[in-house]
Amino acid sequence: MFETTIAGSLPKPFWLAETDKLWPAWKSSGADLEKAKRDATLLWLKEQEDAGLDIVTDGEQSRQHFVHGFLEAIEGIDFEHKVKMGIRDNRYDAMVPVVVGPLRLKGRVHQTEARIARAHTKKKLKITMPGPMTIVDTIADRHYGDKVKLAMAFAELLNQEARGLEKDGVDVIQFDEPAFNVYMSDVKKWGIKALERAARGLECTTCVHICYGYGIKANLDWKETLGGEWRQYEQIFPALAKSRIKQVSLECIHSHVPPELMKLLKGKDVLVGVIDVASDKVETPQEVAATIKRALKYVPRNRLFPCTNCGMAPMRREIAIAKLKALAAGAALARKR
Ligand code: ZN
Repeated sequence: MFETTIAGSLPKPFWLAETDKLWPAWKSSGADLEKAKRDATLLWLKEQEDAGLDIVTDGEQSRQHFVHGFLEAIEGIDFEHKVKMGIRDNRYDAMVPVVVGPLRLKGRVHQTEARIARAHTKKKLKITMPGPMTIVDTIADRHYGDKVKLAMAFAELLNQEARGLEKDGVDVIQFDEPAFNVYMSDVKKWGIKALERAARGLECTTCVHICYGYGIKANLDWKETLGGEWRQYEQIFPALAKSRIKQVSLECIHSHVPPELMKLLKGKDVLVGVIDVASDKVETPQEVAATIKRALKYVPRNRLFPCTNCGMAPMRREIAIAKLKALAAGAALARKR
């Protein structure tokens, strides 16, 4: 009951990359960088285990950003001439690479970190990848000329990598789809189809993470405009409940999401956000247990997985560690109660 996990990313140590940043520059290159990534992956496995988490991740230590980490391994994308593009419905600008030809994987994307993690933990292991709709929203296109075609092309590549990860011994493959909270009608038209294409044929647990973004200023400002009740999930959860994806990761604590919307995910495991990533204030175990209790009104106890609201990449390291501990301690308290 109440197996704990995190959305995925964790802060990078200062010797690996710039700290407190969403798009940090690496501190080294070549073989030195590969070694630093390996060390950081091991460090975070240990921290997650010591905190008492049940399903651990590689902390996304081997990728600069949750979307571009995947894109760098694909042929047909020009990273040399990035262009400025408004993403998430123009919520903020990002410098994005450009699709310039047919897409093809150059090789495996996350095999190295997945195998390192698998070799060093006996806990269940989760690896995250960006979902097709979010990728399409974070890249410019000069080749396919059609969003859906482009999303399906990415979904095919995600599927190839996901099948490889499954063979590497990964227990949970999670696709991150923050764009699902922005383009709700497209989610129903093609977003879920593309997601299922990415997960096709997988026998391991599949998950989709849908959030209101990292705790960066552009997201905090956007949240201010969403009103007293955030009902975006209401438009997409019924369709997601019918999909083949097994788990849904969502925001709960300190968000304006009405908790009863979780009822719409009948039949799914629900990863309930009980840790706020937009605040440096560390939750108490009591607060975490109270959030779990609130969610229990709408999610059966065997389907409730306490989790973070989103990734912790831009957060200070010591705060992230304290929050991991609060997550595990809060779940333990809820179990006892
Ligand atoms: Zn997120």
